[in-house]
Amino acid sequence: MPIPFTQHPYILKIAITIPVHRLFDYLPPDGFDPDKIKPGMRVEVPFGKGKKIGFLMATVKTCDSSIKLKQAVAILDSDSLLSSKELTLLTWAAGYYHHPVGEVVATAFPAGLRQGKPAALPVHQHYHLTAEGRTEIGDNFKRAPAQQVMLRLFQESDRTWSEAALAERFKRYRTPLKQLLAKKMIQAESSVSGFSSDSIPAQAILRQPALSANPAQQQAIADVCASLNRFNVFVLAGVTGSGKTEVYLQIIQQVLERDRQVLILLPEINLTPQLEQRFKQRFNTEIALSHSKLSDSERQFAWLKMQQGRCTILLGTRSALFTPLSKPGLIILDEEHDGSFKQQEGFRFSARDVAIMRAKLLEIPIVLGSATPALETLYNIKKKRFRLLELPERAGSALPPVLHLLDIRNKPLQEGLAQPLLEQMTQTLAKGEQVLLFLNRRGFAPVLICHGCGWVARCRRCETNLVVHSSEQVLRCHHCSQENALPKACPGCQTGNLIPLGLGTERVEQALKALFPENRVIRLDRDSTQRKGALEYYLNEIQQNRADIILGTQMLAKGHHFPNVTLVGLIDVDSGLFSTDFHGPEKLAQLIVQVAGRAGRADKPGTVLLQTRRPEHPLLTALIRHGYWRFAEMALLERKQAALPPFSYQALIRAQAINKQAPQLFLQAASRLAQSLAKQPLSILGPVPAPMVKRAGVFRFQLLLQSPKRASLHALLKQLMPALEELKAGKKVRWSLDIDPMDLS
Ligand code: ADP
Ligand code: ZN
Ligand code: ZN
Repeated sequence: MPIPFTQHPYILKIAITIPVHRLFDYLPPDGFDPDKIKPGMRVEVPFGKGKKIGFLMATVKTCDSSIKLKQAVAILDSDSLLSSKELTLLTWAAGYYHHPVGEVVATAFPAGLRQGKPAALPVHQHYHLTAEGRTEIGDNFKRAPAQQVMLRLFQESDRTWSEAALAERFKRYRTPLKQLLAKKMIQAESSVSGFSSDSIPAQAILRQPALSANPAQQQAIADVCASLNRFNVFVLAGVTGSGKTEVYLQIIQQVLERDRQVLILLPEINLTPQLEQRFKQRFNTEIALSHSKLSDSERQFAWLKMQQGRCTILLGTRSALFTPLSKPGLIILDEEHDGSFKQQEGFRFSARDVAIMRAKLLEIPIVLGSATPALETLYNIKKKRFRLLELPERAGSALPPVLHLLDIRNKPLQEGLAQPLLEQMTQTLAKGEQVLLFLNRRGFAPVLICHGCGWVARCRRCETNLVVHSSEQVLRCHHCSQENALPKACPGCQTGNLIPLGLGTERVEQALKALFPENRVIRLDRDSTQRKGALEYYLNEIQQNRADIILGTQMLAKGHHFPNVTLVGLIDVDSGLFSTDFHGPEKLAQLIVQVAGRAGRADKPGTVLLQTRRPEHPLLTALIRHGYWRFAEMALLERKQAALPPFSYQALIRAQAINKQAPQLFLQAASRLAQSLAKQPLSILGPVPAPMVKRAGVFRFQLLLQSPKRASLHALLKQLMPALEELKAGKKVRWSLDIDPMDLS
């Protein structure tokens, strides 16, 4: 007998956070009301011997009443936490990156919500006078002075008071408060933290007027704002100081006026305070933050505020990308070329690429900002997929820095510093201006060698040398946690002299202190800024002009403004020229431009000196003589001739194991499988050892798949991935797939 329509069983399609590439089917819990259960809610389900929190992706009706499935335990939310477009994005990302959907969906949620905590913002109690309280003269309180004082406070201030504010005024506020409540002199009112969901009137959005935009800025703002209701990718290109942030601010203003939300992604946590400050000065609205230095609950509040539309601006790093937006209006991704937008473990997504897809699904514009757009971005501009908005000059009065190559072949060096650089430093310091030196290697020296027998300090667990750290007197591996005391005698011959070879920031710092004893040197690298607050302290010292020479690693390259720096020296650019990764030249050029951009802000022009032994290198000379764009054209041409991305598409399979054979066997099997499944031209490179074959005791190998067509590569991977999961050889290794790899090491 056919069952009546309403009794047709529903099946819940649920994503569970385990490494499996599919959804799980459950029957709804008791008391199921199909109108109230929507995709985007969290569901508690039995799983194995225990329970898990899953995410409802879809409900499907089935006519088959005989299906035997487990029943979900409970629906945790009364409303969807993610919209259907957000679910579509996550499903797309799981497909594109061939990553287990449950793990992808889990990355969209803050930790507490993943664990099933309630999706609620904290409620604050406020107290205010009742009509009775307002007219109470206070005679009744003669014997209760505490209550009398508190009542006076309410009457005289005539505002609402939170418990926190009362606690500041009164040592013991609880008892009198309770008594006044009992006497109905005051009453409590609860409110959820964050903005009320009412929109702010347009004229009240600005706290401070916008700057008057220069013509290039006006054009950029007008172009983006003409397209606020549809998808478009804009590339806002301009050097540091060209006024990109001002353009963002003025576009955001228009988005806020339309009562829409803005998501802003930055590559670095350290950059958020600066930008937050500027946003706060400009806008009369709360700004939500989301990055890994915040506590889980702080991130969860930011997430919920955006999700509920209680906040209009979210500033965050890569992980903030999936924060739900109730009224999405614009996405901005600043420093779009930056490698940290690519997640390098687990779900290896590119926040830039997924953000573009998100904007497309939401039908809103996305603005990618950079002084040095990535080569693939440049390619997309050429293909007219992205629109270029250029800010050619520095905003305000600042002049662009002048770059010079400093040929150091056969020149005497003092701890890596050539005479012309030292002379310029002396002159700059004499004028009371700051010098910035860049060396991308921390520690004292990258090698410790014995002059007697040639012994070299190697890491036992990695295929690499140990780095000398002289202030701590240790040898440290920069790839695993291994650390040894600095040996007094050579472990090989006992008698030879141990010599540190090569330069690290610590060594240059020592040299600078000896060469410029009158000047203060600040070193900024991961070692010197480990203590909490250290980086902020040093940045402030530099800002306040209490430092003369700033020496650092790539930590310097990003965003920080050093208005008094007029000379920048890059101590060693050659090591970047010989990278085994084809991304090497692009990354080097971006780094040079970023570091150079620290100089000559405000009204002082800057000089940039690059020490090199390869002054004829075509990419370097193109960059110095004609700037980043010419360099990028050339680099793109080289990629084209070599059929490398963006002219082809890559997927990298990495495998590692303690046993050296296992990853090779697995990847050989993977290669054979790929060969047999491929229907279209596919190049298979490897298996080859990773550039660092042994790291932290495990051997690492990789297999690169490359195709001229994205679709055919992905069609192949779709078949290959389940087959790889079945491979016996795969059980003996840890392996992963990296789509569009940014780092081939
Ligand atoms: P970017 O983000 O490209 O580094 P900013 O927006 O921070 O550039 O601008 C650099 C400096 O120039 C800032 O001090 C900013 O206040 C100033 N500035 C930007 N636009 C203008 C403008 N239109 N008029 C005057 N000053 C401007
Ligand atoms: Zn020796
Ligand atoms: Zn190591």
